[in-house]
Amino acid sequence: MKQSKIFIPTLKEVPSDAEIKSHQFLIRAGYVRQSARGIYSYLPLAQTVKNKIEAIVREELAEIGATEILMPVLQPAEIWKESGRWDKYGADLMTMKDRHNRDFALGPTHEEMVTDLLRDDINSYKKLPLTFFQIQTKFRDERRPRFGLLRGREFLMKDAYSFHAETESLDTTFDDMATAYGRILDRCGLEWRSVIADSGAIGGTGSREFQVIADVGEDTIVYDKNSDYAANVEMAEVYYKANPSTEEKLAKEKVATPGMTSIADLVEGLSIPIEKTIKSLLVQADEEIVMVLLRGDHEFNDVKLKNLLDLTVIEMASETAALEVMGAEYGSLGPVNVPADMKIYADSAVQDIVNASVGANETGYHFINVNHGTDFNVETFADLRMVQEGDLTPDGVGTLSFAKGIEVGHIFKLGSLYSEAMKATYLDENGRQQPFIMGCYGLGISRLLAAIIEQTADDKGLVWNKLLAPYHVHLIPIKPADEDQAALTTEIEKLLAENNLTSLIDDRKERPGVKFADSELIGLPVRITVGKRAAEGIVEVKVRATGESFEVETADLLAKIN
Ligand code: ATP
Ligand code: MG
Ligand code: MG
Ligand code: MG
Repeated sequence: MKQSKIFIPTLKEVPSDAEIKSHQFLIRAGYVRQSARGIYSYLPLAQTVKNKIEAIVREELAEIGATEILMPVLQPAEIWKESGRWDKYGADLMTMKDRHNRDFALGPTHEEMVTDLLRDDINSYKKLPLTFFQIQTKFRDERRPRFGLLRGREFLMKDAYSFHAETESLDTTFDDMATAYGRILDRCGLEWRSVIADSGAIGGTGSREFQVIADVGEDTIVYDKNSDYAANVEMAEVYYKANPSTEEKLAKEKVATPGMTSIADLVEGLSIPIEKTIKSLLVQADEEIVMVLLRGDHEFNDVKLKNLLDLTVIEMASETAALEVMGAEYGSLGPVNVPADMKIYADSAVQDIVNASVGANETGYHFINVNHGTDFNVETFADLRMVQEGDLTPDGVGTLSFAKGIEVGHIFKLGSLYSEAMKATYLDENGRQQPFIMGCYGLGISRLLAAIIEQTADDKGLVWNKLLAPYHVHLIPIKPADEDQAALTTEIEKLLAENNLTSLIDDRKERPGVKFADSELIGLPVRITVGKRAAEGIVEVKVRATGESFEVETADLLAKIN
């Protein structure tokens, strides 16, 4: 393929809004372009890599007997009302009306849709189990779309759904799916972990996340180096099962010291619907001021607190720091619902600050409808802490290590959560109506693309392996108009094609420096430069991943690059 015929708008400068390398290089190497926040076009190179990832996904899912379908993006509100999620899902749900004023949602996930699809036609246990998947654009109006493809508002997901008559059958499919995900991530060349996870907005009983290890990851995972134990740190169990150390016991006593005042006593009208245990969030700081604050980059609507880890603890050592936080972060949140057993402590210095600052002391501004004394429980707070490096695993045998992860996949045992709500039933062996037992399995294709880059890119640009590279070889004639160079380029292109190696030929009239810099950015596994020694049939090979370079005769080329 001739580079002059492909749209690859490379950039020298780092885009100002791109904080992480996958975002920076996807833009700079001309792979994607943003149209609105969190909404991207995939240009030819990204589209090719994306297709390759999808091909791997399709192969591995076929291997476990899942078949591909395609459901509508546009989903009628009725089915979301049946499941109860029309109101519960929150502001992430992108909705619209048709010309008849009927409500629709742009699918953020498809549990309702697939349950509706199956309930009419699958009426007997004899037709079960069944597993479907689709690869499709999903819509979520994320509060803070960021990090390029890692958190978009429009993104690509592979979502799969399974239907069963027995829980054992669901367990089998769940395990098969976990195996398939493992193979997919291995084939993508990733370092990853499967972790025990929270079921979040989708609901259900058991769930595992597939986390790609990367410093920019928004998730924290804990794992034992010597066993299979790994969990998203938000899973409360790792917190209260961890063995407290001596320092911690001392710290607890400190927290329980009289003189610390609950913020409930400071702020009128705190309210706290209980969604889930918040035990894991409670932290004590060494400083005289101890507070738990909510970070501003997540949803806090009046329904729920989405993700336990979305809470950040800020230890404030000074009044100025406290004031800054109150103004900058706190003040921007609006009413916040805090789970019931969360306690917030502050000393008298903070009391003054709270009273003096942005609306924190106004009823309903930050906390609403709190029952003083009952919503805040001092004893349990003192018993809890955040899990730390070196803590014991829940079985008491291993010790925990920490890592940052990007959640690329999440699989759930839904049970009959949706089928009951939506009256999706089949007849069992005894002719009795039973709700389907279901599983659902998400894998973020676009997020995976970015996660791969986070693990592989270097400071010059992208670095693809042979399996995922948009082209295998970057073939660069220094002077495309030179007769010898043109002839050798054509010869090598043919040779590569005959051996199933695709090539991108930089036929542009650019300076060598420009071509080489673009080549590093684009990141094809092998660069072949056809230059001064073309007449002798000698080219220069450079391996993108290692930087290794050498001259080689055309006759030896294939052996050297394979
Ligand atoms: P997160 O915790 O990052 O918001 P999630 O838990 O909301 O993700 P799921 O509902 O579990 O996501 O969706 C399945 C998969 O879809 C995720 O594991 C992730 O790979 C992908 N995904 C979810 N939200 C986004 C997004 N905004 N942009 C890109 N991929 C996403
Ligand atoms: Mg989310
Ligand atoms: Mg998540
Ligand atoms: Mg998830």
